[in-house]
Amino acid sequence: MIRQYELVDRVRGYDPDADEDLLNRAYVYSMQAHGAQTRASGDPYFSHPLEVAGILTGMKLDTASIVTALLHDVVEDTKVSLEEIEERFGDKIARLVDGVTKLSRIELQTDATRQAENFRKLLLAMSDDIRVLLVKLADRLHNMRTLGFIRDAEKRRRIALETLEIYAPLAERIGIHAWKEELEDLAFAEVNPDARTSIATRLDYLRSKGGADMVGRILDQIKRALAEAGIEAWVSGREKQAYSIWRKMEQKSVAFEQLSDIMAFRIVVADVPACYNAVGVVHSRWPMVPGRFKDYVSTPKRNGYRSIHTTVIGPEQQRIEIQIRTREMHEIAELGVAAHWRYKRPGDPADGAQYRWIRELLEILEHASDPEEFLEHTKLEMFQDQVFCFSPKGDLIALPRGATPVDFAYAVHSEVGNTCVGCKINGRLAPLRSKLENGDQVEILRSKSGHPSPLWDSFVITGRARSALRRYVRQKEQEQYLDLGKAMVVKGFRDKGHEASDKALAAALPVLKIKTVEELHVAVGRGEITVRQVVEAAIPGLKSEAETPAPLPALAKGKGKKPEGEGAVAIRGLIPGMAINFAGCCHPLPGDRIVGIVTTGKGVTIHTIDCEQLERFSDAPERWLDVSWSEGGETPGVHVGRIRTVLANEPGALSELTTVIAKNRGNISNLRIITRSQDFFEMVVDIEVRDLKHLANIIAALRATKTVSSVERTRS
Ligand code: MN
Repeated sequence: MIRQYELVDRVRGYDPDADEDLLNRAYVYSMQAHGAQTRASGDPYFSHPLEVAGILTGMKLDTASIVTALLHDVVEDTKVSLEEIEERFGDKIARLVDGVTKLSRIELQTDATRQAENFRKLLLAMSDDIRVLLVKLADRLHNMRTLGFIRDAEKRRRIALETLEIYAPLAERIGIHAWKEELEDLAFAEVNPDARTSIATRLDYLRSKGGADMVGRILDQIKRALAEAGIEAWVSGREKQAYSIWRKMEQKSVAFEQLSDIMAFRIVVADVPACYNAVGVVHSRWPMVPGRFKDYVSTPKRNGYRSIHTTVIGPEQQRIEIQIRTREMHEIAELGVAAHWRYKRPGDPADGAQYRWIRELLEILEHASDPEEFLEHTKLEMFQDQVFCFSPKGDLIALPRGATPVDFAYAVHSEVGNTCVGCKINGRLAPLRSKLENGDQVEILRSKSGHPSPLWDSFVITGRARSALRRYVRQKEQEQYLDLGKAMVVKGFRDKGHEASDKALAAALPVLKIKTVEELHVAVGRGEITVRQVVEAAIPGLKSEAETPAPLPALAKGKGKKPEGEGAVAIRGLIPGMAINFAGCCHPLPGDRIVGIVTTGKGVTIHTIDCEQLERFSDAPERWLDVSWSEGGETPGVHVGRIRTVLANEPGALSELTTVIAKNRGNISNLRIITRSQDFFEMVVDIEVRDLKHLANIIAALRATKTVSSVERTRS
């Protein structure tokens, strides 16, 4: 075990301003809190947080990180509460410890390997301070180093797989290659010991073939060549990691025998010109393998990585990979964000430092090296705006920040959303409008009789939930129109002494060009067709009887009865097949000057040329359609003319009004009293008429009565 003074010395070695007192207190406190607890290895439990702290001193991390490492398992594994940590060590440390604790809890509750990418994002999203993630990774590294002590083979395997799929990639992503390699190697030994052994054996063979210490001999040759050229350099060499060789074999499906470049060398020099000098020396001495030269010094990778890569046929006729870089490039490549941070750290690390960490991390994550990674990371931009929640089965669901359990329910399945009646968050009942947080476990309570509430629309934020709600509301509306239309049709037939039988309605369908009885009912309910049209279509003969107007004085003076041309085009200028609607705002009648407004998906709406609503379309001339009533043609459907009239408030006035309208073959479709005084009352009457002239006749006839004091056509 590292002794207390050793730990403090190490930290002071790279940070003279380290808070010694804080380190000492954390050391003692953690040791006491863990007390007699032991690890699977039989060691005192405290050895674990201490080793984790030790690993982090290797990264030259700040006091807060080291203290957090010492305390990282205290809240989860002892009786100590987070409040107590806060009291003793301050809220900053408490926040960091809490962060690590939360990450550990999540680790426990899920089979993460199924959704590695989401899980990695969750960990990143929850590590709002990068130090949380670094402590977590160091924690995992030490647990992997001691994995062999765990007796349960299944558990060992699970931890190893999780390490390969989650933690090693995370370490790589934030640029800590040494951790990544060690994590991979330890996990590889657990997951696939045979493969690891056979690769190791093969490496041994190659080594023996090349003679003892081939790496060392090649290393010497490179060093000598550089020294002869007067280049000051630090050169290192190694065999590649078994796991990375194995993965290359898997990915490129090459046999191990074909993998010849199993040695890698690194040349670290003082500055950039020296990099190129070194390349010159290497290439002039050993033949370069074409296609393997990459200059990331002049063109850094998107994550900021800089180095020159080349492969040559080395001094012993072996392919060797060589990286050439400056010292600073090297530190950044090896220590990743941590080095970055150290190079740029201003005087006071407390001052917004954690946010800068995140920014830099995100910057690096954003600019990943290969396109696939890049795509992944452009999503990361958004991931700060995301929350990741678990289903009871441990599925990880990504939602936009601010999402609610209803959004969650619809994200799982629309049927889950539609039958949702309540929810539990982390095992407790919670309101459906609660905002979800990272790592929440959400259980949706469902009922067969449950249905979406229109209220949800005020708090759901995902498109999926929104559109499902709208669909549901539309469907409900449709049902209401269906019921209403059905009732209207039944009454309409009864009024004419007929029954709205299926047979009768079926007969009306082709005439009205409607496919099903249901659609017919909905159309009536919506007011798209009138009951009268349905009755006339269903009962032949009724129409001519109803439509033959008695010659009226005003009509007789005019052109007389119009010819009844079935299917004749009523409006000129229309595009064939386009649906026509008559605007409810101005009630255009045949004879009015009209204009059409095209609405995608809805067809043409006919307005009168003086309709005030047209102003709304003044910016969209392309939607205007020049139309006019066709001379002598029948217009489809019935037109509604609206009049405003003032009647004397006396018995019989209303009946006189309706009688006059009926006599003139007008059909009152709506009637609304606006004001009523002692002497008069004012009302608006909608009358179904053939055309403008028909309405004019009715108005004229009304003016001729004693009780109507005034009457005129109105638009509102
Ligand atoms: Mn731990």
